[in-house]
Amino acid sequence: MYVKKGYNGNGREEGHGEAYDYKESLMDTKLKSPDFLELFELNLPAVDTDRIEKATTEILEAVGEDPQREGLLKTPQRVARAYDELLSGYRTDPQALINDAVFNVDYDDMVIVRDIEFYSLCEHHMLPFIGHAHVAYVSNGKVIGLSKIPRIVDMFARRLQVQERMTHQIAEFLNAVLEPKGVAVVLDGVHMCSMMRGVKKNESKMTTSAMLGSFREDPRTRAEFMNHIGRSNSNHLL
Ligand SMILES: [Zn+2]
Repeated sequence: MYVKKGYNGNGREEGHGEAYDYKESLMDTKLKSPDFLELFELNLPAVDTDRIEKATTEILEAVGEDPQREGLLKTPQRVARAYDELLSGYRTDPQALINDAVFNVDYDDMVIVRDIEFYSLCEHHMLPFIGHAHVAYVSNGKVIGLSKIPRIVDMFARRLQVQERMTHQIAEFLNAVLEPKGVAVVLDGVHMCSMMRGVKKNESKMTTSAMLGSFREDPRTRAEFMNHIGRSNSNHLL
């Protein structure tokens, strides 16, 4: 059995090359497969920046602004560039993201990464919602480099989203890549569409969770995770 204790390095060791490469190619095949890319909406075409520029000029005129005034002259271009970046999650190459950072191990401890900042856009208003993600899994023989988990969160944040779907996509992606005993994802978000428009300001913070495998089935596993992220193991999160 291949053993990798640390999260750094390329995961290769003398004498284990053949078995490891075999496993690695299975992973690459999965990450490249059309079904996988479609399931996680990773194969959308490039952003049409010309159309966004034209549409932005339209919006400026529609709200009574003058797109030719100095401060707005380059706004359509800036908006197009911003959307290209803010919606880049649809065009992320999962193989480049993972980049061989999945390692085989012989332990099954819980791995927790908490307080990962995220910035997303709600699909109802195209306004930001921002917050923190807390991600955990119990290994079933594979671990992923810790720095990859915030990048996976980014991949699903940089889209038009609802917080519930983003939570589940992060969990399902880790489940598909690591095939672990369980995955848990909790997201805390504040939604600008609620805050800026001045409705229900005190209810604007939202918590969503996705629990798979051992986190769903075993209350102790779930409680251990909830304790680590400073929550009581209350049912309204499930
Ligand atoms: Zn909204």
